[in-house]
Amino acid sequence: MAGKEKKESGLWEYSPAPESASIGKIAPKYGLFIDGKFIAPAKGRYFPSINPATEAKLSMIAEADAADVDKAVKAARKAFGSWSRLSASERGKYLYRIARMIQERAREFAVIETLDGGKPIRESRDIDIPLAAAHFFYYAGWADKLEYAFPNRKPKPIGVAGQIIPWNFPLLMAAWKIAPALAAGNTVVLKPAETTSLTALKLAELFSDCGLPPGVVNIVTGAGATGAALVNHKGIDKIAFTGSTDVGKIIQKAIAGTTKKSTLELGGKAANIIFEDATIDQAVEGIVNGIYFNQGHVCCAGSRLFVQESIHEEVVRKLKHRIKSLRVGDPMDKNTDVGAINSKAQLETIQKYVRLGKEEGAEIFQPSCNLPDKGFWCPPTLFTNVSQSHTIAREEIFGPVLAIQTFRTEAEVIAKANNTPFGLSAGVWTDKGSKIFNLTSKLRAGVVWANTYNKFDPVSPFGGYKESGFGREGGLHGILPYVQF
Ligand code: NAP
Ligand code: MG
Repeated sequence: MAGKEKKESGLWEYSPAPESASIGKIAPKYGLFIDGKFIAPAKGRYFPSINPATEAKLSMIAEADAADVDKAVKAARKAFGSWSRLSASERGKYLYRIARMIQERAREFAVIETLDGGKPIRESRDIDIPLAAAHFFYYAGWADKLEYAFPNRKPKPIGVAGQIIPWNFPLLMAAWKIAPALAAGNTVVLKPAETTSLTALKLAELFSDCGLPPGVVNIVTGAGATGAALVNHKGIDKIAFTGSTDVGKIIQKAIAGTTKKSTLELGGKAANIIFEDATIDQAVEGIVNGIYFNQGHVCCAGSRLFVQESIHEEVVRKLKHRIKSLRVGDPMDKNTDVGAINSKAQLETIQKYVRLGKEEGAEIFQPSCNLPDKGFWCPPTLFTNVSQSHTIAREEIFGPVLAIQTFRTEAEVIAKANNTPFGLSAGVWTDKGSKIFNLTSKLRAGVVWANTYNKFDPVSPFGGYKESGFGREGGLHGILPYVQF
């Protein structure tokens, strides 16, 4: 492996690595990243990754089966011995180096993220990639301070973590998972989502280039069956999963009765609440960012809007005006606000909910947009005349579709906002600090934003209540699931 040598002691020495020849390129075919090398999958099967904005094939991705997952878990187990014994400050150095190299290659990561997933390049460039680097920087800082973080408790790593991530923030979700696991001395087998594996594979190249010891992070690509093989593997000590509540339930059943630890970051149906004393124009921007950011493919999206009755007409009028100005189209265009829907299957799901919204009696508004002929697209959509019982107000759509309801009193909106099986996030817009404190204490949501929305920071823990899962990612809380005492 480039950039590292094993010392007699069995530990790794840190040395500069040559730059990868593949920087800036998407290879026509990717193998599985196991034990520091890209290798062919046992059955030789590959699947295409496409650009959802053009439907053009970008690359062929290896499909890992149970035998490949077994190889990856064994590589992670072998690496665990030396990695967990490495001095914590040395581990931290690797994480700092990964963070810096993500920054150096930020442009490449942003372009690939946008090509593979359909999100606007402005978002990949300004949010996804910088935040991924920030997570590695943040957890690099914790690596040699864990004994201070958990005083008198002697934190030790758990072992091999199996990590499964969704397609909405591919590199960022990989960073959320890998950085705290490595900082605490664990090794990793990561499975990216089927439609967006490319930035995880570029991250694998970066791991090689930065000299991360072989086997510390292994990346097995594939679909749900690959994820299930990872969950069911006996050599996994911990499962960290981000995805739908349905798959989260399958995972919980699969590991019941085993000693595997787990954290689940699942779906959401957040309430975004606008009081009559809010600054309306600012709130309108917050509503737009809350639901149309990343095409609404956001677990914490503000998909249920609650507007106080006295300002309902004004807010809806301004919102309609504002979404007419959103630019929908080519994700690679820096002026695009709403990019492509991540996959055909997701577009069909969104279209099903839009149909249901109309059939159940809600009133739809969509601005007229010139959508490209190829690719998967959904204009920013809002529904008025929505009631609590409507499907679009109850189920996670995971698309650019907003369901608007009204309320009169604080007590009423708290009851309505909490009337959901989910509890991931919420937003409150008001001029009154007292209302903010009242709502943040009564809303059953892991994150509550006040007079802002969809703001993320590695320092701040993120995670859900109820069917939105358990465990936290980010902050010191994000290390806890990766240590034992
Ligand atoms: P998903 O269908 O649950 O998939 C998530 C991941 O699990 C993917 O890598 C998927 O593989 C894999 N998977 C599918 N079936 C599996 C099984 N039986 N065993 C193990 N792994 C399996 O969710 P998604 O559609 O990708 O993502 C959207 C969901 O994620 C939404 O519900 C959203 O709210 C949630 N999400 C939550 C958070 C959070 O922090 N709470 C953040 C982002 C997203 P393939 O996709 O390759 O089939
Ligand atoms: Mg793709």
